[in-house]
Amino acid sequence: MRDDLLPVLACPVCAESLARVDEQIGCANGHRFDEAKQGHLTLLPAKRRALTADTPEMVDARLRFLGRGHYAPVERAIAAIVAAAPAPGIVLDVGSGPGTYLAHALRAADG
Ligand SMILES: [Zn+2]
Repeated sequence: MRDDLLPVLACPVCAESLARVDEQIGCANGHRFDEAKQGHLTLLPAKRRALTADTPEMVDARLRFLGRGHYAPVERAIAAIVAAAPAPGIVLDVGSGPGTYLAHALRAADG
């Protein structure tokens, strides 16, 4: 998670702003959210997280699958849309997997 993007996010529990607090992301009211080793931030409350089926092994498998180019046309289409958008802007990837599409969009936006 890039710290310069934290000001555009809000705590999903209390709507306070988010900031880096020690090794986690959190708000002034003590709500904390884990940053995955892959770099994405999960803003689901802990009780909701238990309902997700994604284990670290599943995320790794998804990354390997996407890395083989099976969804390359989708990645290119999203990247083209973002590259053509007026700048400056913010791209938010919400719940679409391990951030693969966002990574392609950001590379395209950086030129
Ligand atoms: Zn909060």
